[in-house]
Amino acid sequence: MKRKTDLQVFAFILVLTSLLTASQPVLGATALSKGSKGSEVRRLQERLTELGFEPGKADGVYGNATYLAVLLFQSRNGLDMDGAAGNATLNLLYSENAQGKVRDDLGEKPYVTQDGLPLLVNLNQPFPDGYIYYDLVVMNQYCDQSIVKIKYDNMLAEKEAVDALLSMLQAAKQDGIRNWQISAACRTVTEQKRLMNSRVNSYVKNGMSKKKAQSAARQTVAEPGCSEHHLGTCFDITVPGVSFAGTKQHKWLLEHCWDYGFILRYAEDKTKITGFTAEAWHYRYVGREHALAMKEQNLCLEEYVEMMRQR
Ligand SMILES: [Zn+2]
Repeated sequence: MKRKTDLQVFAFILVLTSLLTASQPVLGATALSKGSKGSEVRRLQERLTELGFEPGKADGVYGNATYLAVLLFQSRNGLDMDGAAGNATLNLLYSENAQGKVRDDLGEKPYVTQDGLPLLVNLNQPFPDGYIYYDLVVMNQYCDQSIVKIKYDNMLAEKEAVDALLSMLQAAKQDGIRNWQISAACRTVTEQKRLMNSRVNSYVKNGMSKKKAQSAARQTVAEPGCSEHHLGTCFDITVPGVSFAGTKQHKWLLEHCWDYGFILRYAEDKTKITGFTAEAWHYRYVGREHALAMKEQNLCLEEYVEMMRQR
């Protein structure tokens, strides 16, 4: 019995040692994350400030503001977006190649294709590898919450789409239609994987086989890499506490969203083409011109992109 206990202790120490070794940084930098404190954090904050990412005052405490600044730095530099300053993030951050918050290249918007069409992301055309976000904002900081409630802290989305959203919902408010909520915006591929796993696990917990659970989860959660939410230009627009379909807010959006550059992405009559069941709450920003053309001709994005390319 004693022998077994010794073995267990030994195994525990082995695991602990390998964990500690695995998190040892290269190049002398210390991996930092939320809760870290000290001079390395201060140095990180100073560098983020220099690059324009606003981590709050350089107090040496890795709190929420620093976490968000790291997240935005990662989005701007095409890094894995986890808000933690691991080796890859630190190495790039202190290098000459670090891209600052303010774009000096003013390159093409990544959610628009070279021929000026909205970038398609669906089950057949996954989100491109190495995608670099354009100008993400933190929605609960950026949005006037008297116009729209942002359901979760730290939700990100492309500024251009958020600006259009706010104009749209401000107009709705003037029409007496209020009580809006955003329940999803930008979701990274990593987050989508996490969401898919938790959905599968909850089905398995309720007695489904793994295989059945996976196919059931795919009915309601997009395959990681195939969700439009990766783009940061889509929103799940809802009303707190009620089912959205059929609400006055839903009716207002169906009539007016196009004028503000939004399309109802997954319509009832297009499920065979989009590959998604109808979603009354999911709207994609594509710009006014494209949105109005799609409304006029009753085309979903797949049909519209194909038609435009054939012209
Ligand atoms: Zn959605």
